[in-house]
Amino acid sequence: MGCDGGTIPKRHELVKGPKKVEKVDKNAELAAKWKYCALSQEKLRRPIVSCELGRLYNKDAIIEYLLDKSAERPNVEAVTHIRGIKDIKELNLTDNPEWEGERRTAKGDRYEDIHCGMFICPVVGLEMNGKHRFCYLQTCGCVFSDRALKEIKTEICHKCGDPFKDEDIVVLNGTKEEVQKLKEKMEEKRVKTKTKKSKKSKAVETISTPPESKEDTQSPPVDVAGRKSQQNGDESSQSGG
Ligand SMILES: [Zn+2]
Repeated sequence: MGCDGGTIPKRHELVKGPKKVEKVDKNAELAAKWKYCALSQEKLRRPIVSCELGRLYNKDAIIEYLLDKSAERPNVEAVTHIRGIKDIKELNLTDNPEWEGERRTAKGDRYEDIHCGMFICPVVGLEMNGKHRFCYLQTCGCVFSDRALKEIKTEICHKCGDPFKDEDIVVLNGTKEEVQKLKEKMEEKRVKTKTKKSKKSKAVETISTPPESKEDTQSPPVDVAGRKSQQNGDESSQSGG
């Protein structure tokens, strides 16, 4: 039977109520990229590193991955381009003085303000919370807002004074297109270094030690194969009462 025009609305059509808007908050999703390690999904905490594609990781997670690449882990596709410790760079981040970590509501529940970033741009003070573009310099690992790098033209790092070029700037958590570009750049670079290595230039060896290695005593050097050199130093100091 045709019922054009004269349909009687059924009850569920009348009482629609508020539509359940399951809007996965895009902001929250974006903000998460700036808060959690792209590999382990744990909260980012120093030392934080980035790769040639501008993702953020906890250094521990990457080291663990490099020590045993075959172990099964989720998100491993995020790091398959990392071949060794040389493919990551420890970031030199600037703390946000406003950041209080987990805050408490009036009830005492813990919550986090997703719009508050842990870090800021040391030049213009923008928060690194996903709302603004941020970049790091592959030369020194210092992190700045895109705005700072664009507005204040410089050839030396705003933070540590190391010289850098435009090509050393890597956008953090960039768009798909940007990541694609970074990928192409990375692959190009890898082909180049391969051909360079085969020439085996001895010039590199004669260069005296770089000045930066002097002050850098905070983090013990870790290489791909080795663990931290602390493993059996604890036993001797067990004098007690
Ligand atoms: Zn720097």
